Amino acid sequence: MKIEKERRIVGEMIALYYKNNYHQTIDDNEEAKELINYVNHRLSVCPFKDKKKFCSHCSVHCYEESKRELIKKVMRYSGPRLLFTHPLLVIKHVIEK
Ligand code: SF4
Repeated sequence: MKIEKERRIVGEMIALYYKNNYHQTIDDNEEAKELINYVNHRLSVCPFKDKKKFCSHCSVHCYEESKRELIKKVMRYSGPRLLFTHPLLVIKHVIEK
C-alpha cells in the first residue's frame, strides 16, 4: 500500500516536472519514461517492501547516481508545486513523513 502511494506521488511529480519544463507528457519524453520505469522498478524490488520509508529518507539509497540526481531535481521542482495541484496527496505525504 505504501509503495503504491509512493508510486503515485512520484509519478505525479515526474509528470508535473516534464509538463512544466518540456511541455511534454511522460509518454512523449524518453528521459521521463526511463525515470518513471526506473523508479517503479526500484520500488518493486525494494527490500523493505511495505515497511519502507519514503526513498528520500532511506539509508540504503539503491538508486544509481545519475537517477538519484535527476529524481532529486524533479522532487525539488515538483514537491512545492504539487501542493497546489494535489494538496491532499501532499498533506498525507507530509504527515506520513
Ligand atoms: S531507496 Fe531505499 S526505500 Fe527506496 S526503493 Fe531503494 S531501498 Fe527501497
